[in-house]
Amino acid sequence: MTISRLNPQFVEHFPEKLKPGELYLAMEFATAVHLCACGCESKVITPFSPTDWQMSFDGETVSLRPSIGNWSFRCRSHYWVRSGRVVWASDMSQEVIDAVRKRDIQAKALHQAARAKSEDVGQPEWADSQAEPKATTWFERLKSRLGL
Ligand SMILES: [Zn+2]
Repeated sequence: MTISRLNPQFVEHFPEKLKPGELYLAMEFATAVHLCACGCESKVITPFSPTDWQMSFDGETVSLRPSIGNWSFRCRSHYWVRSGRVVWASDMSQEVIDAVRKRDIQAKALHQAARAKSEDVGQPEWADSQAEPKATTWFERLKSRLGL
């Protein structure tokens, strides 16, 4: 059975048995869960973060963005949740999926780099060493800071 609407259910903990057509939102964990709108009953987990999903609640319905692409499921369904309605997207080619994935990974990396950079403000650890700053990534600096 294809699901055309997702009703928001704000919960503290996700129930063990999810009902189709319900969008469970656990704000404490910044995560939502629902059963795939195609009716295949796969559990779709959408964490909220600047680089994952963002939700908006208008008091009655929830919208999620970006779209939900269940590429790892057999159904490979792809849809938006807009004002509680499931809006189906046309099937994406593997090429497009790969491009979108790549963009997501890049966005995440950029976000983390920007975050690391802002944390490093005023602490040029490499300033008094001869190390070439470009040669060390924020991750390596973090590791050395932690003594790993
Ligand atoms: Zn499905």
